[in-house]
Amino acid sequence: SVPASIASALSSGARKGLLMKGGAVIEATAKVSRIAFDKTGTLTHGTPRVTDIVAAPGVTENDLLAVAAGVETGSSHPLAQAIVRRASEAGVTALPAAQARALPGKGVEAQVGDEKAWVASPRHAADTAGLAAEHINRATALESEGKTVVAVFRERRPLGLIALRDEPRDDAAEAMAQLRQLGITPLILTGDNPRTAAAIAGQLGMEFRAEMLPEDKLEVIRDLGAQGGVMMIGDGINDAPALKQASVGVAMGSGTDVALETADAAILRNRVTDAPALIRLARVTMGNIR
Ligand code: ADP
Ligand code: MG
Repeated sequence: SVPASIASALSSGARKGLLMKGGAVIEATAKVSRIAFDKTGTLTHGTPRVTDIVAAPGVTENDLLAVAAGVETGSSHPLAQAIVRRASEAGVTALPAAQARALPGKGVEAQVGDEKAWVASPRHAADTAGLAAEHINRATALESEGKTVVAVFRERRPLGLIALRDEPRDDAAEAMAQLRQLGITPLILTGDNPRTAAAIAGQLGMEFRAEMLPEDKLEVIRDLGAQGGVMMIGDGINDAPALKQASVGVAMGSGTDVALETADAAILRNRVTDAPALIRLARVTMGNIR
């Protein structure tokens, strides 16, 4: 019977770490024809490592790290954790920071002493405080190597740049191959810059849209949804609006609580191949019912 098939799919999914919040999710998943993936923490491990530190004139690398680590201490963003880790490896004590506030898709800011310090994308830095040509050029070169670059500021004073590299998850390429076999075209939606996005998308043979703010991701999902069922898979607060808009929003298990709460389903074991697995489970279940 229908409820029995659905109940058994829900429980067999759950045993494999594929959580779905009810039978309607299975129905919607079976109809998905497009899948959009967030990049950082979803397609990639989300454990980037700091590769380059570019301190502004008169600023030491350690000063730069102390401010950046202070601002990032309260953030769960993968870039934040990498910066905090690098500071501790370098024996640098993070400056005490208060009132940390995420700027979703852009960066994070906090009060350090009597100043506002912030760490954000070069794009956001250029838009709000201005970024020197040499920093823009250096950031562009690092990004073309597939690295993500963030700029560190105290008020409007640039302290320098930090570059980080994050590798695709081991099964990401395999997952894309399986999705194509299912007739589904995968797409990357990322807040990261187009150069870094192109490097990852190229490795995985995917389309991509870069520099997407949370509302941009939502727009793309809405447009794709007008053409058929669309699944969005993400892990961050920046993905929450798109997860909510998608026919099926899926949270990557290691992600933020906001993503988990908003999503219709969750992939608890952080395997990208669980995306095609979810689709196959739903299609088989609905096929059995029809
Ligand atoms: P993604 O879509 O790849 O998960 P996000 O939307 O979370 O990326 O972030 C987009 C960009 O905003 C990052 O590449 C980075 O430049 C900047 N950013 C976001 N959060 C932070 C943070 N906590 N610290 C520094 N930069 C950040
Ligand atoms: Mg993410």
